[in-house]
Amino acid sequence: MHTLALPKKTSPRRPAADYRRRMIWTQRIRHLTQLTFAAFILYTSVIHHLATVDGTTASIDALCPFGGLETAWQVLSTGGQFVPKTHQSNLILLFGLLAGTLIAGGAFCGWVCPFGAVQDALTWLRRKLHLPEVYIPAQLDRVLRYGRYLMLALILYQTIVSVKLWFADIDPYRTLFGLDWLFEFNPAIAGLAYVSLIITLVTSLFVERAWCRYACPLGGAISLVSKFSLLRIRREESGCKGCAVCARPCPVKLPVDTATTISSDCIGCLACVDACPRHDTLDVRLAPVWLDWTHRNQTTEANHAR
Ligand code: SF4
Ligand code: SF4
Repeated sequence: MHTLALPKKTSPRRPAADYRRRMIWTQRIRHLTQLTFAAFILYTSVIHHLATVDGTTASIDALCPFGGLETAWQVLSTGGQFVPKTHQSNLILLFGLLAGTLIAGGAFCGWVCPFGAVQDALTWLRRKLHLPEVYIPAQLDRVLRYGRYLMLALILYQTIVSVKLWFADIDPYRTLFGLDWLFEFNPAIAGLAYVSLIITLVTSLFVERAWCRYACPLGGAISLVSKFSLLRIRREESGCKGCAVCARPCPVKLPVDTATTISSDCIGCLACVDACPRHDTLDVRLAPVWLDWTHRNQTTEANHAR
Protein backbone atom coordinates (compact mmCIF):
# COMPACT_ATOMS: atom_id res chain seq x y z
CA MET A 1 0.00 0.00 0.00
CA HIS A 2 1.30 3.43 -0.90
CA THR A 3 1.36 6.17 1.73
CA LEU A 4 1.42 9.79 0.73
CA ALA A 5 4.42 11.65 2.22
CA LEU A 6 3.42 15.13 3.34
CA PRO A 7 5.66 17.89 1.92
CA LYS A 8 8.09 19.29 4.50
CA LYS A 9 6.95 22.66 5.85
CA THR A 10 9.61 25.30 5.19
CA SER A 11 9.88 29.03 5.88
CA PRO A 12 8.73 31.36 3.08
CA ARG A 13 11.26 32.32 0.42
CA ARG A 14 12.90 35.74 0.57
CA PRO A 15 12.80 37.76 -2.67
CA ALA A 16 15.99 36.84 -4.57
CA ALA A 17 16.97 40.46 -5.30
CA ASP A 18 16.59 41.27 -1.61
CA TYR A 19 18.98 38.68 -0.24
CA ARG A 20 21.48 39.06 -3.10
CA ARG A 21 21.71 42.79 -2.36
CA ARG A 22 22.19 42.08 1.33
CA MET A 23 24.91 39.52 0.54
CA ILE A 24 26.86 41.94 -1.67
CA TRP A 25 26.69 44.77 0.86
CA THR A 26 27.67 42.67 3.88
CA GLN A 27 30.72 41.37 2.06
CA ARG A 28 31.65 44.85 0.80
CA ILE A 29 31.57 46.24 4.33
CA ARG A 30 33.54 43.25 5.59
CA HIS A 31 36.25 43.67 2.96
CA LEU A 32 36.46 47.38 3.66
CA THR A 33 36.92 46.66 7.37
CA GLN A 34 39.63 44.09 6.60
CA LEU A 35 41.36 46.53 4.28
CA THR A 36 41.34 49.25 6.94
CA PHE A 37 43.03 47.03 9.52
CA ALA A 38 45.56 45.69 6.98
CA ALA A 39 46.39 49.24 5.88
CA PHE A 40 46.89 50.31 9.50
CA ILE A 41 49.30 47.44 10.15
CA LEU A 42 51.22 48.19 6.94
CA TYR A 43 51.38 51.88 7.84
CA THR A 44 52.74 51.03 11.32
CA SER A 45 55.32 48.74 9.74
CA VAL A 46 56.52 51.33 7.21
CA ILE A 47 56.76 54.03 9.89
CA HIS A 48 58.69 51.65 12.12
CA HIS A 49 61.21 50.90 9.37
CA LEU A 50 61.65 54.54 8.43
CA ALA A 51 62.16 55.54 12.04
CA THR A 52 64.62 52.85 13.06
CA VAL A 53 67.29 55.51 13.52
CA ASP A 54 65.77 56.79 16.74
CA GLY A 55 63.81 53.59 17.40
CA THR A 56 60.81 55.42 18.82
CA THR A 57 57.94 53.79 16.94
CA ALA A 58 56.30 50.49 17.75
CA SER A 59 56.81 47.46 15.52
CA ILE A 60 53.88 45.28 14.46
CA ASP A 61 54.94 42.85 17.22
CA ALA A 62 53.36 45.27 19.68
CA LEU A 63 50.05 45.10 17.82
CA CYS A 64 49.50 41.36 17.89
CA PRO A 65 47.09 39.77 20.41
CA PHE A 66 48.93 36.46 20.00
CA GLY A 67 51.99 38.14 21.52
CA GLY A 68 49.81 38.67 24.62
CA LEU A 69 49.11 34.96 24.80
CA GLU A 70 52.79 34.14 24.34
CA THR A 71 53.91 36.50 27.08
CA ALA A 72 51.06 35.86 29.56
CA TRP A 73 52.82 33.01 31.40
CA GLN A 74 56.07 34.96 31.71
CA VAL A 75 54.21 37.98 33.12
CA LEU A 76 52.28 35.85 35.61
CA SER A 77 55.20 33.71 36.72
CA THR A 78 57.70 36.56 37.15
CA GLY A 79 55.34 39.17 38.51
CA GLY A 80 55.47 41.47 35.48
CA GLN A 81 58.39 40.67 33.18
CA PHE A 82 57.59 40.37 29.49
CA VAL A 83 59.00 38.05 26.86
CA PRO A 84 61.34 40.26 24.76
CA LYS A 85 59.56 42.15 21.93
CA THR A 86 56.19 41.96 23.73
CA HIS A 87 54.59 44.82 25.64
CA GLN A 88 51.55 45.78 27.68
CA SER A 89 49.80 46.54 24.40
CA ASN A 90 49.89 42.81 23.56
CA LEU A 91 48.07 41.97 26.78
CA ILE A 92 45.50 44.74 26.25
CA LEU A 93 44.81 43.47 22.72
CA LEU A 94 44.57 39.92 24.04
CA PHE A 95 41.93 40.92 26.60
CA GLY A 96 40.05 42.87 23.93
CA LEU A 97 40.11 39.85 21.62
CA LEU A 98 39.01 37.56 24.44
CA ALA A 99 36.02 39.80 25.24
CA GLY A 100 35.12 40.15 21.56
CA THR A 101 35.36 36.41 20.98
CA LEU A 102 33.21 35.63 24.01
CA ILE A 103 30.55 37.85 22.48
CA ALA A 104 30.86 37.34 18.72
CA GLY A 105 32.90 34.14 18.25
CA GLY A 106 35.50 34.11 15.48
CA ALA A 107 34.52 37.45 13.92
CA PHE A 108 38.10 38.70 14.45
CA CYS A 109 39.24 36.22 11.78
CA GLY A 110 36.55 37.23 9.32
CA TRP A 111 36.60 40.98 9.82
CA VAL A 112 39.87 42.13 11.40
CA CYS A 113 42.90 39.88 10.88
CA PRO A 114 45.07 41.22 8.04
CA PHE A 115 46.37 37.75 7.21
CA GLY A 116 42.79 36.53 6.80
CA ALA A 117 42.29 39.46 4.41
CA VAL A 118 45.34 38.40 2.40
CA GLN A 119 43.91 34.89 2.06
CA ASP A 120 40.53 36.27 0.97
CA ALA A 121 42.40 38.35 -1.63
CA LEU A 122 44.16 35.20 -2.86
CA THR A 123 40.79 33.47 -3.27
CA TRP A 124 39.57 36.47 -5.28
CA LEU A 125 42.72 36.27 -7.42
CA ARG A 126 42.31 32.52 -8.01
CA ARG A 127 38.76 33.09 -9.22
CA LYS A 128 39.82 35.96 -11.48
CA LEU A 129 42.59 33.82 -13.01
CA HIS A 130 40.23 30.83 -13.33
CA LEU A 131 42.67 28.65 -11.41
CA PRO A 132 41.29 25.42 -9.97
CA GLU A 133 40.32 25.23 -6.31
CA VAL A 134 41.72 22.30 -4.35
CA TYR A 135 39.07 20.73 -2.11
CA ILE A 136 40.22 18.81 0.93
CA PRO A 137 38.07 15.72 1.56
CA ALA A 138 35.86 16.18 4.63
CA GLN A 139 37.50 13.44 6.69
CA LEU A 140 41.03 14.72 6.02
CA ASP A 141 39.84 18.28 6.64
CA ARG A 142 38.57 17.28 10.10
CA VAL A 143 41.95 15.79 11.00
CA LEU A 144 44.02 18.65 9.55
CA ARG A 145 42.07 21.21 11.58
CA TYR A 146 43.81 19.84 14.71
CA GLY A 147 47.01 21.30 13.23
CA ARG A 148 46.07 24.69 14.71
CA TYR A 149 45.93 23.27 18.23
CA LEU A 150 49.26 21.49 17.74
CA MET A 151 50.84 24.74 16.57
CA LEU A 152 49.30 26.59 19.51
CA ALA A 153 50.59 24.07 22.08
CA LEU A 154 54.03 23.85 20.49
CA ILE A 155 54.54 27.61 20.22
CA LEU A 156 53.33 28.32 23.76
CA TYR A 157 55.51 25.54 25.20
CA GLN A 158 58.63 26.62 23.30
CA THR A 159 58.06 30.29 24.14
CA ILE A 160 57.70 29.49 27.83
CA VAL A 161 60.84 27.34 27.82
CA SER A 162 63.03 29.66 25.72
CA VAL A 163 61.57 33.01 26.93
CA LYS A 164 61.65 34.42 23.42
CA LEU A 165 59.11 34.68 20.60
CA TRP A 166 60.05 31.25 19.35
CA PHE A 167 57.84 31.24 16.25
CA ALA A 168 58.30 34.89 15.24
CA ASP A 169 61.26 34.27 12.92
CA ILE A 170 59.24 32.01 10.61
CA ASP A 171 55.73 33.39 11.23
CA PRO A 172 54.28 34.04 7.74
CA TYR A 173 52.05 36.86 9.02
CA ARG A 174 55.00 38.66 10.63
CA THR A 175 57.24 38.03 7.63
CA LEU A 176 54.70 39.55 5.24
CA PHE A 177 53.48 42.51 7.28
CA GLY A 178 56.81 43.16 9.06
CA LEU A 179 58.14 44.28 5.64
CA ASP A 180 61.75 43.25 6.37
CA TRP A 181 61.67 41.62 2.92
CA LEU A 182 61.17 45.10 1.48
CA PHE A 183 63.45 47.19 3.67
CA GLU A 184 66.16 44.69 4.65
CA PHE A 185 65.94 41.76 2.22
CA ASN A 186 68.33 39.13 3.53
CA PRO A 187 67.81 35.50 2.45
CA ALA A 188 70.86 34.39 4.46
CA ILE A 189 69.15 35.33 7.73
CA ALA A 190 65.47 35.21 6.85
CA GLY A 191 65.51 32.45 4.19
CA LEU A 192 63.35 30.11 6.26
CA ALA A 193 60.82 32.87 6.90
CA TYR A 194 60.53 33.57 3.17
CA VAL A 195 60.06 29.86 2.43
CA SER A 196 57.37 29.61 5.14
CA LEU A 197 55.58 32.66 3.70
CA ILE A 198 55.73 31.43 0.09
CA ILE A 199 54.45 27.94 1.04
CA THR A 200 51.58 29.50 3.02
CA LEU A 201 50.59 31.91 0.26
CA VAL A 202 50.75 29.33 -2.53
CA THR A 203 48.73 26.81 -0.49
CA SER A 204 46.15 29.47 0.40
CA LEU A 205 45.84 30.41 -3.28
CA PHE A 206 44.51 26.94 -4.08
CA VAL A 207 42.98 25.88 -0.75
CA GLU A 208 40.67 28.59 0.59
CA ARG A 209 41.85 30.02 3.94
CA ALA A 210 44.32 27.11 4.30
CA TRP A 211 46.44 28.86 6.93
CA CYS A 212 43.39 29.73 9.05
CA ARG A 213 41.89 26.26 8.80
CA TYR A 214 44.99 24.16 9.44
CA ALA A 215 47.89 26.09 10.93
CA CYS A 216 47.08 29.41 12.60
CA PRO A 217 47.78 29.17 16.35
CA LEU A 218 45.73 32.28 17.09
CA GLY A 219 42.86 30.86 15.05
CA GLY A 220 43.11 27.70 17.19
CA ALA A 221 42.87 29.72 20.40
CA ILE A 222 39.94 31.73 19.03
CA SER A 223 38.13 28.56 18.03
CA LEU A 224 38.51 27.17 21.57
CA VAL A 225 37.12 30.34 23.16
CA SER A 226 34.36 30.62 20.52
CA LYS A 227 32.78 27.46 21.90
CA PHE A 228 31.53 29.69 24.72
CA SER A 229 30.50 32.72 22.67
CA LEU A 230 27.13 34.36 23.27
CA LEU A 231 26.28 34.94 19.62
CA ARG A 232 26.34 32.01 17.22
CA ILE A 233 24.81 31.16 13.90
CA ARG A 234 21.95 28.68 14.20
CA ARG A 235 19.98 26.82 11.56
CA GLU A 236 16.31 26.16 12.26
CA GLU A 237 15.73 22.69 10.93
CA SER A 238 11.99 23.26 10.72
CA GLY A 239 12.43 26.06 8.17
CA CYS A 240 15.28 24.47 6.19
CA LYS A 241 14.61 23.16 2.69
CA GLY A 242 17.92 21.25 2.52
CA CYS A 243 19.13 23.06 -0.62
CA ALA A 244 22.69 23.54 0.80
CA VAL A 245 22.96 26.99 -0.81
CA CYS A 246 24.32 28.31 2.48
CA ALA A 247 27.31 25.94 2.54
CA ARG A 248 28.69 27.02 -0.84
CA PRO A 249 30.12 30.46 0.04
CA CYS A 250 31.67 29.38 3.36
CA PRO A 251 35.38 30.34 3.19
CA VAL A 252 36.32 27.84 5.89
CA LYS A 253 34.21 25.05 4.39
CA LEU A 254 31.88 24.33 7.29
CA PRO A 255 28.90 22.02 6.76
CA VAL A 256 26.42 24.82 7.51
CA ASP A 257 23.53 23.00 5.83
CA THR A 258 23.65 20.04 8.21
CA ALA A 259 24.61 21.68 11.51
CA THR A 260 22.15 23.12 14.00
CA THR A 261 24.60 25.38 15.82
CA ILE A 262 27.45 26.28 13.48
CA SER A 263 30.93 25.12 14.52
CA SER A 264 33.22 27.34 16.59
CA ASP A 265 35.57 27.36 13.57
CA CYS A 266 33.17 29.88 11.99
CA ILE A 267 34.84 33.21 11.19
CA GLY A 268 31.58 35.16 11.25
CA CYS A 269 31.69 36.37 7.65
CA LEU A 270 27.88 36.03 7.41
CA ALA A 271 28.01 34.79 3.81
CA CYS A 272 25.91 31.74 4.68
CA VAL A 273 23.29 33.80 6.53
CA ASP A 274 22.85 36.10 3.55
CA ALA A 275 22.87 33.23 1.04
CA CYS A 276 19.99 31.35 2.67
CA PRO A 277 16.85 32.00 0.62
CA ARG A 278 14.46 31.20 3.51
CA HIS A 279 13.20 33.67 6.10
CA ASP A 280 14.45 33.17 9.69
CA THR A 281 16.11 29.86 8.96
CA LEU A 282 19.81 30.67 9.25
CA ASP A 283 20.58 33.54 11.56
CA VAL A 284 22.89 34.97 14.18
CA ARG A 285 21.22 34.22 17.49
CA LEU A 286 21.93 34.55 21.16
CA ALA A 287 22.93 30.92 21.61
CA PRO A 288 25.40 30.43 24.48
CA VAL A 289 26.64 26.90 24.92
CA TRP A 290 24.66 26.35 28.13
CA LEU A 291 21.45 26.79 26.14
CA ASP A 292 22.58 23.80 24.03
CA TRP A 293 23.26 21.79 27.19
CA THR A 294 19.86 22.73 28.64
CA HIS A 295 18.19 21.82 25.36
CA ARG A 296 20.07 18.50 25.17
CA ASN A 297 19.14 17.65 28.80
CA GLN A 298 15.50 18.50 28.17
CA THR A 299 15.45 16.33 25.04
CA THR A 300 17.06 13.44 26.91
CA GLU A 301 14.58 13.79 29.78
CA ALA A 302 11.69 13.93 27.33
CA ASN A 303 13.00 10.80 25.59
CA HIS A 304 13.32 8.98 28.92
CA ALA A 305 9.80 10.01 29.90
CA ARG A 306 8.33 8.37 26.75
S1 SF4 B 1 42.79 32.01 11.74
FE1 SF4 B 1 44.63 33.20 12.18
S2 SF4 B 1 45.32 34.03 10.21
FE2 SF4 B 1 43.22 33.30 9.97
S3 SF4 B 1 42.03 35.09 10.30
FE3 SF4 B 1 42.13 34.03 12.26
S4 SF4 B 1 43.89 34.92 13.32
FE4 SF4 B 1 44.02 35.52 11.17
S1 SF4 C 1 29.62 29.29 8.70
FE1 SF4 C 1 28.76 31.08 7.61
S2 SF4 C 1 29.44 32.86 8.78
FE2 SF4 C 1 30.72 31.11 9.39
S3 SF4 C 1 32.49 31.22 8.10
FE3 SF4 C 1 31.07 29.85 7.07
S4 SF4 C 1 29.88 31.19 5.69
FE4 SF4 C 1 30.95 32.52 7.13
